[in-house]
Amino acid sequence: MVKTGVSYFGSRIERHVKEDMRDIAAHDCDFVVHTFSENDLQFYKETMKEIAGISHKEGLEVWVDPWAVGGVFGGEAYSNFVSINLDSRQVSAKGESLPAACLNNEYFRKFMFSWIDASTEAGADVFFWDEPHFYLYPLDQMEKDETIWACRCPVCRELFEKRFSYAMPARLNDDIKLFKEDSIIEFLKAMCGYVKIKNNKLKNALCLLPFKGSLGGIIDWSKAAGLEALDIIGTDPYWRPGEKDIEGLVGRFSEKIHELSVKYGKEGQIWILNFRIKKGTEKDIETAVMTAYKKGIRNIAAWSYLGTGCMSYLASDDPEMVWTTLGKAFKELHGRE
Ligand SMILES: [Zn+2]
Repeated sequence: MVKTGVSYFGSRIERHVKEDMRDIAAHDCDFVVHTFSENDLQFYKETMKEIAGISHKEGLEVWVDPWAVGGVFGGEAYSNFVSINLDSRQVSAKGESLPAACLNNEYFRKFMFSWIDASTEAGADVFFWDEPHFYLYPLDQMEKDETIWACRCPVCRELFEKRFSYAMPARLNDDIKLFKEDSIIEFLKAMCGYVKIKNNKLKNALCLLPFKGSLGGIIDWSKAAGLEALDIIGTDPYWRPGEKDIEGLVGRFSEKIHELSVKYGKEGQIWILNFRIKKGTEKDIETAVMTAYKKGIRNIAAWSYLGTGCMSYLASDDPEMVWTTLGKAFKELHGRE
């Protein structure tokens, strides 16, 4: 069965949300991914409940995304947690405190559980763990310099030494890479497990950073796919402006996800670029959607609603055209069932 969706942010005003959710359903979406940032957690808890209710009324499944929470997920939002909990921050190999929470820090994990509590209460159906990662430096810096990485906080150092029986070095080595990867897996295991304890009907979805983003995250994707409490596994192979081989790029990652989903009995998901789309290249969206489908992916979502026109940093040149193109592609997919 084909399932399609789109992410949504930018408005917390009931009548506008209502209109937008109707529009999303009319564009053949089955679900909506609501960003649920720290800002939302602090100031919009009840509003988020209303928004989830409105979405359900329009027949949409409600996904929630810990948007840049703790600075360790994808998203254009700030983390208040890291500005007030200095002891829970990641520490660079050189000893600097970084604006991201440590995934191994128990206090941060507790904070995440409170986020899950609030999201569950708001009416979430699916928890969308978006691009969990350790602090990311610019990739070229990380590749060139073995002392540019995180996290080497006291908690990580202690855990590392317990496992490998030597002090955590400041220079990146294979043990540290393995430690970082397993730390994210352990973190996800705790999060997904907590969601299932709250309510076994709730689902967990994961979006893995593609490309070299794995330097800050998970290199061996089968470890993530093997997580028992995970229901949906995906990635977001977003193309850069001028990319000529959309089919090759999206196809490669779709194949990888499809293989994992079959092997581990999960649902495979592919994210389609719907931001910073250059005018005249909207057709690439259709190509990407159809490529993912051809490779066996049946859960396809786009970031973000209406060509991400509400955010100048990510806006497409012609948001309406992006949205119309996506809606047509989704409609065609549903017509194939
Ligand atoms: Zn740490």
